[in-house]
Amino acid sequence: DSSIALHDVRFSYDGRTDVIRGVSMDIRPGQTVALVGPSGGGKSTLASLICRFFDVGSGSICVGGADVRDIPKEELMDTVSFVFQNSRLLKGSILDNVKLGRPDATEAEALSALRAAQCMDIIEKFPDGIHTVIGSKGVYLSGGEQQRIAIARAMLKNASILILDEATAFADPDNEAKVQAALAELAKGKTVVMIAHRLSTVVNADCIYVVQDGRIAEAGTKGDLCARN
Ligand code: ADP
Ligand code: ADP
Repeated sequence: DSSIALHDVRFSYDGRTDVIRGVSMDIRPGQTVALVGPSGGGKSTLASLICRFFDVGSGSICVGGADVRDIPKEELMDTVSFVFQNSRLLKGSILDNVKLGRPDATEAEALSALRAAQCMDIIEKFPDGIHTVIGSKGVYLSGGEQQRIAIARAMLKNASILILDEATAFADPDNEAKVQAALAELAKGKTVVMIAHRLSTVVNADCIYVVQDGRIAEAGTKGDLCARN
């Protein structure tokens, strides 16, 4: 299944100061949870630990009931998809970048992912589909456009768990709306852990965790949190 369970997780980058100081959460398959809280509180670190970019210092993280330390790296990477805020596009065509999600996908499947990720306007901008996304003269994609291509890539990969570092800081509201729509489409039927920079951007989370000083300061629905604060 695609559950995520953290049990009394502690973690330190330098082996001395714990930046995660005893975090537990139970996320059921298909749930969407949001991590909010002040910068430096530990949201990104928690997301990285779930993907096992680092190992916990103590405590445990289970994905689908298995400790992430016991899941082969390849299998974990197939199960968990991490969509970065700075979407890490590589030099190459739009289709090449999307196909990184699943290299054996057909062009039709890649195009269908691009369509679902609201990228048709980008494709129309580059109709022959062979333009370099970054690093080439005369071709420029905005942050929001790059983010949508990264979402298309994750869509093609179709992992059952999604870790989203939500990028909401686009200057252009049209882009922001498209990114939000693409994310909503991507999240359908998946277990989602979303890092949100503002509570106001969290629309449909089943549970919101306020991460502060490496701990869960509060948890509840948006209604619960708004009523308390
Ligand atoms: P948030 O995502 O809530 O802004 P982070 O998880 O990025 O918080 O940061 C939590 C703490 O860990 C902060 O004190 C931050 O400075 C520290 N930190 C984050 N990444 C690293 C790193 N790669 N190496 C050392 N310290 C880090
Ligand atoms: P990072 O995770 O790399 O620190 P952020 O998304 O926090 O990136 O920052 C991107 C932009 O959004 C920055 O210009 C930052 O000032 C702005 N920003 C981040 N969080 C908030 C917030 N809570 N309210 C308003 N603006 C924010």
